[in-house]
Amino acid sequence: MDQVSTIEKGFEARFWHPLADGRIQCDLCPRYCKLHEGQRGLCFVRARRDGRMVLTTYGRSSGFCIDPIEKKPLNHFMPGTPVLSFGTAGCNLNCRFCQNWDISKAGEFDRLTEEASPESIADAAVRSGCRSVAFTYNDPVVFVEYAIDVAEACRARGIKTVAVSAGYMCDAPRREFYRHIGAVNIDLKGFTEAFYKRLCTGSLGAVLETLAYLKHETRVWLEITTLLIPGENDSPAELEALSAWVFEHLGPDVPLHFTAFHPDWKMLDRTPTPAATLMAARNIARGVGLRHVYTGNIHDEATQSTYCHACGTRVIGRDWYEITSWNLTRDGRCKRCGTACAGVFDEPPGSWGQRRQPLLIGVGASR
Ligand code: SF4
Repeated sequence: MDQVSTIEKGFEARFWHPLADGRIQCDLCPRYCKLHEGQRGLCFVRARRDGRMVLTTYGRSSGFCIDPIEKKPLNHFMPGTPVLSFGTAGCNLNCRFCQNWDISKAGEFDRLTEEASPESIADAAVRSGCRSVAFTYNDPVVFVEYAIDVAEACRARGIKTVAVSAGYMCDAPRREFYRHIGAVNIDLKGFTEAFYKRLCTGSLGAVLETLAYLKHETRVWLEITTLLIPGENDSPAELEALSAWVFEHLGPDVPLHFTAFHPDWKMLDRTPTPAATLMAARNIARGVGLRHVYTGNIHDEATQSTYCHACGTRVIGRDWYEITSWNLTRDGRCKRCGTACAGVFDEPPGSWGQRRQPLLIGVGASR
């Protein structure tokens, strides 16, 4: 299908089946939307046309930027390197505190200003010196066919791919998608079913399944982020339960990022997260045995640096997205004691720094 007809008709989607009552069911995420002709799923970008499921955003983006990999956040995956980042539109969760709502809730696609083929994205990554391409800004679950094609084009050119996702995805598409992915940051939004139901209209259990799958059945590098919202998911008991689950089910080496909330979308009545809350959360997680726990969205080099778990040496100094010191060997071992640091360290650190550089790849979208 060429680019113009893809945009007009939609790209034929995978992961759905017809139902006996004449509807079709999407099997991509645990919402299992059931659609009559002309209807769209909750994510708004997957729709029924001519009896089949289509992805309406294939090949279109809200824009491209070169970011530091630390911004995803990924602190143990090729630190200091630039990552070509993009998103499309729509989301399969409905988080009241969404920090990217202008993209994830872009129902009219008015933010999809660029058309770009998978090959042109991969070529742009090579040209601009990026080591990886990230599916971010909105959840790649809802544009999985486009993301997989981009990942395949990247692999052919030696570029890795990174996903930033809430992990709300069914088993079969999850297995297909993560075959193509080098690293992922999963947004673990809270640690009670009540939180997921009330504030995200999702379920915690499905996300925990994705986390366990990623850790135990793939070689994808995994980090986790929890945005701490004052009064909603930041109680010591909930943070202890979350941290203990990560330790018990994923092990001590999976990095955990506690990041600060800023009032946004439908949650403008809350205050930003105090730095003290992030510090307390970090102490709790370290107390249960997690080795790499970070604060985010604040400046604090002490809690954003990486330490050798054996001897305590600061092996990667980091201030927000900037690498400030480096004490790892080329293969990721502490220079002082030789203990391996968990992660993907196949080169000397990059020097991209904090920059965020917009990049024009495709042509202006015709809609
Ligand atoms: S991916 Fe979209 S259409 Fe499919 S089940 Fe989830 S919300 Fe519904």
